[in-house]
Amino acid sequence: KSDSTYDYIVVGGGTSGLVVANRLSEQKNTTVLVIEAGGSVYNNPNVTDTLGYGKAFGTDIDWAYETTDQEYAGGSSQIVRAGKALGGTSTINGLVYLRAQAAQIDAWEAIGNKGWNWKTLLPYFKKGEKLQDPAKHPVLDGSGITFDPAYHGFTGPLKVGWPSTQLNDGLAQKLNATYQNLDVPVQFNHDSNSGDMVGYSLYPKTLDYELNIREDAARAYYYPYQNRTNLHVWLNTHANKITWKDGHEATADGVEVTLSNGKTTVVKATREVILAAGALKSPVLLELSGVGNPDILAKYGIATKVNLPTVGENLQDQMNNGLQFESKKSYADGKSADYVSYPSAAQLFPNSTALGADLLRKLPAYAAQVASANGNVTKASDIYRFFKIQWDLIFRDGIPVAEILLSPYGNLYSSEYWGSVPFSRGSIHLSSADPMAAAIIDPKYFMLDFDFEAQVQAARFIREVFNTEPLGDMAGAETTPGLSTVPADADDEAWADFIKGKYRSNFHPITTTAMLPKEIGGVVDTSLKVYGTSNVRVVDASIMPFQVCGHLQSTVYAVAERAADIIKGRL
Ligand code: FAD
Repeated sequence: KSDSTYDYIVVGGGTSGLVVANRLSEQKNTTVLVIEAGGSVYNNPNVTDTLGYGKAFGTDIDWAYETTDQEYAGGSSQIVRAGKALGGTSTINGLVYLRAQAAQIDAWEAIGNKGWNWKTLLPYFKKGEKLQDPAKHPVLDGSGITFDPAYHGFTGPLKVGWPSTQLNDGLAQKLNATYQNLDVPVQFNHDSNSGDMVGYSLYPKTLDYELNIREDAARAYYYPYQNRTNLHVWLNTHANKITWKDGHEATADGVEVTLSNGKTTVVKATREVILAAGALKSPVLLELSGVGNPDILAKYGIATKVNLPTVGENLQDQMNNGLQFESKKSYADGKSADYVSYPSAAQLFPNSTALGADLLRKLPAYAAQVASANGNVTKASDIYRFFKIQWDLIFRDGIPVAEILLSPYGNLYSSEYWGSVPFSRGSIHLSSADPMAAAIIDPKYFMLDFDFEAQVQAARFIREVFNTEPLGDMAGAETTPGLSTVPADADDEAWADFIKGKYRSNFHPITTTAMLPKEIGGVVDTSLKVYGTSNVRVVDASIMPFQVCGHLQSTVYAVAERAADIIKGRL
């Protein structure tokens, strides 16, 4: 085989792509090529600094995708960030390592994805993970960290743990006391990675404790293995589209790429093309390759290879807002910590039962609205099924409905938060046959009013936490939005300007090539193979059928680990 023919081509050397490339190239006789649009960020301080969240934003390693103007959310567009580098978004993300509620992964199976549930995914969370035991790091004594070893891996490639800069001044314990003093207490959660997320906890991060640097997908899954002669990576190389074998069958035989020197060429795959370009690129690559909605493809003169109208539909994200409060103590000593609480509906909403009943009545109308917004490409009856499962997760299984972070820095307490399971669903589609053109990204933030209600109620909840002792005594005035902007007794309407004017994308886009049965709008089957093709898979965040309450990366890593075993024929 030459340098232009490989068994497998992985498109996108990001979080999921490097996992799959690593595992496939464990097989010595298997050749794997990774095509990555970005470069190496091994020595980029904006990446390595564990306290540097945000430093890479707007630099050349940030795709900074722009959405359409968001009509239900104040009218402006949003920037959705994603990493353009070997390691992908794991090189710019917030390092948070938090999984999902077990019931949420079980819902993947319940909707028709046989074999995908919490029990079958947990071994893959553990397989990838190398938890650095805080008990071996005396500097962390007193920081309040707890975990249950039964749910963690200690020998995988990905280093996970708490930083040596972790705050241990007693704030963790005071916050816990505060949560116990709420009218509806939020209990301490010993390990929020156990499949039960509800409660207050201190979560681990993707970092190397010894070196005090970020652990990204390239550091975990590529650099230690870069000497494998059967694993090649082409950096600064843009994948344009899949190329197909002649004939009726949709069998991929390669990928057209534009090299760093601007030359366009085709690299051949003898077995499979595996898309791992992220939820805002993989669906567009399918469309550029003729897989998608024929009406959309025809607009741009692209011949339909596979008629699969739901490619790019079902786009889901979350909305992120933040409150800030003065701190009476200064946290400027280089130590930091983030504390998370995950309230259930019963803990967040004072009238949870009535609210749930009201929402249940609204679901058919919500489903019809989503379907009509995409020209009924997805069917209202299918969307209703997804929504009913989501309703059951919230009001029966008691999954978290919000994520509330609390981080002290300088003379402030910052509290970013988001409703964890919005119902709104939008879409992403290409805007041109030019592979370099920006896509049309429309997440439809706040289209459905439950999403707004959850976002408002989480803000009220944060105010209550800051009005509860002992935290209440440690915090000063609310600086964002401030009581003069949004009064203490503000109704939902009075919150709207702040929430819709100041929110941002939570950078958790998913479901754009959903793993679902084809008849209810699926793009990939349970082996992650694109329907109608014989050898194209998607292995990234695009395939998640439902949003998860934790952050995405741990689940992306686990899905990719499982995908590799599927591709190897082990499952
Ligand atoms: P990616 O990791 O984005 O990989 C896609 C790769 O494909 C990229 O390297 C990209 O450059 C490449 N690519 C795209 N198009 C092409 C093309 N045409 N040709 C060649 N290459 C291409 N999750 C957490 O769990 N914890 C967090 O704290 C957290 N914080 C976040 C903060 C930010 C700012 C962002 C943006 C996300 C955050 N996330 C977090 C989400 C999480 O990091 C991502 O969901 C996850 O990394 C996505 O993995 P992926 O494999 O789907 O895509």
